[in-house]
Amino acid sequence: MFAVIDKSVIKRNLEVIYAVLLIIFIPAAIIVNTLIFTNSFGSVINQELYSKGVAIGDTINAGLMPFLKQPESIQTQLEHVGRLNSEVVGLDVLQKENDEFKVIASLDRRAINKTTKYMQYVMAWQEDNSIAYVTAATGKSTLSELSEIKNDGIRYWQIIMPIRDQLGQKQLLLSMRVSMKMLDDLTSQVLFRSYGVLAITVLLIIFVLLNNTRLFAYASLYKKIKEIDQMKDEFISVASHELRTPVTGIRGFVSMILAGDMGPIGDKAKQSLQIVQSSADRLAGLVEDLLNVSRIEQGRLSVDIKPTDIDPIMKSIIAEMKIQSDAKNLLLEYKPQEAKLSLVNIDTERLKQILINLIGNSIKYTEKGKVEIFVEEKDKNIEIKIMDTGIGMSPKARERLFEKFYRVQTEQTKNIVGTGLGLWITKQLIELQKGKITVDSIEGVGSQFVVTFPVAK
Ligand code: ADP
Repeated sequence: MFAVIDKSVIKRNLEVIYAVLLIIFIPAAIIVNTLIFTNSFGSVINQELYSKGVAIGDTINAGLMPFLKQPESIQTQLEHVGRLNSEVVGLDVLQKENDEFKVIASLDRRAINKTTKYMQYVMAWQEDNSIAYVTAATGKSTLSELSEIKNDGIRYWQIIMPIRDQLGQKQLLLSMRVSMKMLDDLTSQVLFRSYGVLAITVLLIIFVLLNNTRLFAYASLYKKIKEIDQMKDEFISVASHELRTPVTGIRGFVSMILAGDMGPIGDKAKQSLQIVQSSADRLAGLVEDLLNVSRIEQGRLSVDIKPTDIDPIMKSIIAEMKIQSDAKNLLLEYKPQEAKLSLVNIDTERLKQILINLIGNSIKYTEKGKVEIFVEEKDKNIEIKIMDTGIGMSPKARERLFEKFYRVQTEQTKNIVGTGLGLWITKQLIELQKGKITVDSIEGVGSQFVVTFPVAK
């Protein structure tokens, strides 16, 4: 049970989890990368500085060899080295006296003749090796008594090494301090740049995520709209099915009463029943349209396409529609342009439906004049053209003509009943049979609907 809840929570919040992970992981990766880089870069440079310090020490040692017994010359040498190497900030040469070390030359002349038992000197001497460590102390002498702690953020390598004579015997002790400022400056520059990149990356991620959040919102809105649309389709489907049976009952009984099957009825009752009959007919038409819409939308509308001669179908439909056109005193004419038409791949029942819709509309929206139906074979297509001398429509209305529930709203159409579904259904039916429909119309002059179907091979 809990596992199910957890999974669904994760699924629903997947976008949020993904966003949070992105915000955490990318900057973390950049930080780790920067730290690893500065660390390895730092240790390389550190090693370099230390080596340079030792090299300077060896050079000093070589330079001092001839003057090991002449403190004045050693002093001159140290000052020379100090001038040439700006990163060497402190420099002392010490001589072992008993268990102490006495400064015999220094960049800081105040240190000369001072003695110390400083542990690091003792260690370097005893181990006969150079030792180095990092310190923050500054000063031109390395003697701890004379060093100042400035805490200006600069670190120094303190290197202590024995000075040897030509025979390799240690004679004196050299102590120097080499600045690590160059390394520290470089490291902080690299860090500063990395933090800049980090800040820009975080901003970019936030920007992308904000945009995505909007997209997520649209996506879920789209999902909801689709769900509602589906519910609407289902409602239409159920409602039209449920309406069909009672409407059929009403129409059946009303026509039986009107035909006198239930006994004689008076004129008044007859008139009222005729109104009931036409209303019930309209209702049946609406229910049928809605059923067709839901069938098409749910892909449940089957078509039985086969090569067909449309001429007899045209003739029978026109004969059927004549009742309506005669009632309006309109001329309804069928004008096939060829003696013999090729067969067309269509479903007979669907073609009848299409013709009834289009010819029915022409009769419905024409007050006087005629409705003509031409059939012609053109470029391997059969073209059915329905032309009327009716009210026509504006170019703007024409653009939306095949939309579901669209009806042209004008003075002339306001008393004509309809659902706005006929042309949508017609277009879907035509396209299901690989056909096309186009419309041309001039307001006040008439309309022309052209339906084409490819000729059967
Ligand atoms: P309706 O049930 O309203 O007739 P249709 O989908 O069949 O619905 O037609 C949509 C609209 O197109 C109609 O409301 C009408 O305004 C217009 N229309 C359709 N056929 C014609 C025509 N032959 N002449 C003028 N207007 C037409």
